[in-house]
Amino acid sequence: MNDRTTLARFLISQSGRHPTATGELNSLVLDVALACKAISRRVAHGALAGVLGAESSTNTHGETQQTLDLIANDLFLQVNEWAGRVAGMVSEELDGPHHMPVEHPRGKYLLAFDPLDGSSNIDVNLSVGSIFSILRAPRPGLDAAAEDFLQPGSEQVCAGYAIYGPATMLVLSVGTGVHGFTLDPGLGEFFLTHPDLTIPASAAEFAINASNRRFWEPPVRRYVDECLAGEPGPRGKDYNMRWIASLVAELHRILTRGGVFLYPNDSKDPERAGRLRLLYEAAPVAFLVEQAGGRASTGRHRMLDVVPQELHQRVPFVFGASEEVERVEALHADDRSDVDSHALFGARGLFRTTA
Ligand code: MN
Ligand code: MN
Repeated sequence: MNDRTTLARFLISQSGRHPTATGELNSLVLDVALACKAISRRVAHGALAGVLGAESSTNTHGETQQTLDLIANDLFLQVNEWAGRVAGMVSEELDGPHHMPVEHPRGKYLLAFDPLDGSSNIDVNLSVGSIFSILRAPRPGLDAAAEDFLQPGSEQVCAGYAIYGPATMLVLSVGTGVHGFTLDPGLGEFFLTHPDLTIPASAAEFAINASNRRFWEPPVRRYVDECLAGEPGPRGKDYNMRWIASLVAELHRILTRGGVFLYPNDSKDPERAGRLRLLYEAAPVAFLVEQAGGRASTGRHRMLDVVPQELHQRVPFVFGASEEVERVEALHADDRSDVDSHALFGARGLFRTTA
C-alpha cells in the first residue's frame, strides 16, 4: 500500500503542474470525494439501508425523485457548505443556487453537480454515479447568483465523477489529463489506479437509445444507419451497440475501452433540446472527454464553447472517439434540414427554398 498514490497526494503533485490548482481547490475536491464515499456506502447497502424506491416529490425537471437522489444531494450540500471553499452550489435536485447558512464563509469556487446520475438504475442494482463541475466564482467571497454559473465548460478548473459499480471509482481532471482512483472500502481512501485515461480516436462501439429513432434528426439517423450497415457499408467496419441508460456508466466505459455516445436532439418533446443538462452533465463530461483526447459536441458545436443561458439548460450531446464524433458533426454540417439553417431556409424562414 505504501507505494500507492492517494487522492490527496495526487492532487498535491498536480498543484505544481497547473496554475489553477491551489490548496483550496484540492480541499474542495477532497470534500467532494468525501461526499462520494458517503453516497457509495448508502448505495452499497441497497435495500438494507432503506434507500430504494421513489419519493412522492418531483424535481425541477418534473422527474420523480428517488429517495437516494435526495440523500445524495444532501450529502453533497452538507459536506461542502461550511468549509469556505465555495461561493455557491447548484444541483440537478435544486431549482436555484443552494442557500448556504449565513454563518459559514464563502469561497472562490462554484460547484455544480448531479448528485446521483442514472438513479433509475438503483432499484435494479446497476451502476449509478455522481458528476461534478468546479468553476471560479466571478465574485469570490460573496453569495453566488444563478448568473455566476452561466460560464462555458471551457472555464472549468476541475470536473469529475464517481461511479458506484462493482468497485467505487473517482475519475477526475484538473486540466492535466484524466485520472481514475479506486476506493479501498476498508480504508475509506481513494488510490490512483488508472492514470492518464485516453479515448482512442477510432471506435467500433456506439451507444444510443434506439427506441427514439423516429424522433431523431436526419443526420443522427444517417450516422446510426452507417454503423448498422457494418463492413459492407460506408464506414467499412462492423459496430457493436451498448446502452446502460446511465451517463456516468457510459462515460466510464468509453474512458476505459473507447466508443461513442449519443443523446441527440429529438422531436419527442419540442420544448427541450436533448435530454442531458449542460451545467452538471454535458460540460463536466466534455471536459473529461477532451482531457482524455476525445471529442465532445452538440453535433454542431464544441460542447465546451456552449455558453449556458439557464441553470438547467438541456443540450444534445455526442462524445467519445474523435473520428466518430467528427463523422456525426460532418453529417450535421451537410444536412439541409439542420435546425441552425431553419431560421434562414426552413418553411417559415427568410429564404424559402423551392427544392
Ligand atoms: Mn444525470
Ligand atoms: Mn441525477
